[in-house]
Amino acid sequence: MRTKMVAGNWKMNKNLQEGVALATELKEQVKNPTCEVVIGTPFIHLATVCELLKGSPIKVAAENCADKEKGAYTGEVSAEMVASTGAQYCILGHSERRAYYHETPEILKEKVLLALANGLKPIFCIGEVKEEREANIQNEVVKSQLEGSLFNLSAEDFGKITLAYEPVWAIGTGLTATPAQAQEIHAYIRSLIAAKYGEQVAQDTTILYGGSCNEKNAAELFANPDVDGGLIGGASLVAEKFTAIIAAR
Ligand code: PEP
Repeated sequence: MRTKMVAGNWKMNKNLQEGVALATELKEQVKNPTCEVVIGTPFIHLATVCELLKGSPIKVAAENCADKEKGAYTGEVSAEMVASTGAQYCILGHSERRAYYHETPEILKEKVLLALANGLKPIFCIGEVKEEREANIQNEVVKSQLEGSLFNLSAEDFGKITLAYEPVWAIGTGLTATPAQAQEIHAYIRSLIAAKYGEQVAQDTTILYGGSCNEKNAAELFANPDVDGGLIGGASLVAEKFTAIIAAR
């Protein structure tokens, strides 16, 4: 049975005190989840939140890491630094990083390798923009994103990856892929993994849906056989909403 997961992505929200308050609420409310629960926080929160969540089932993710190992890269945060905080996951390839910070498939390939080399488990985001969905080329887009940044990995390393299918047109927009659209492309993604790594690796890969997933639509999305959980942006910023999504998984 592959891991089911609900992961939050706080993005550039919550100052340190607000983040500590939210993590404290979640620690109190999430005691025995039936799925893996992860919160992705800004770098500055990681050490404090990891310390605070000791003894809790909630795991912590960074939202990014550098594409260089160490050295004169002012302002960057390496995968080793992230791991040293106690964080276990690292969100990589988010569409906002691709679009606003020009992260190419090559850069993301380096980030994935460095995250893995430092014991972090990548939550790797893929997904098409609105024009690509309208042109019905979403399958080609996700295939090329997988080939460009992940399919260089050995089967063993690929097994440490969680995928998040996030149609860019659904992120933060209130538009959600229909459960049928999500299932169709998740199944397609799984078929690509099967073709590359074999059926067992494909069946073991956790594929999350992300894009305006909330406490109202989560259950319907998660009911699909190939949707293993969610990567949650806006709704992860409110403890009650996030815990309702966890309960829906
Ligand atoms: C995200 O940014 O990963 C995301 C899914 O955001 P939202 O839930 O706000 O659409």
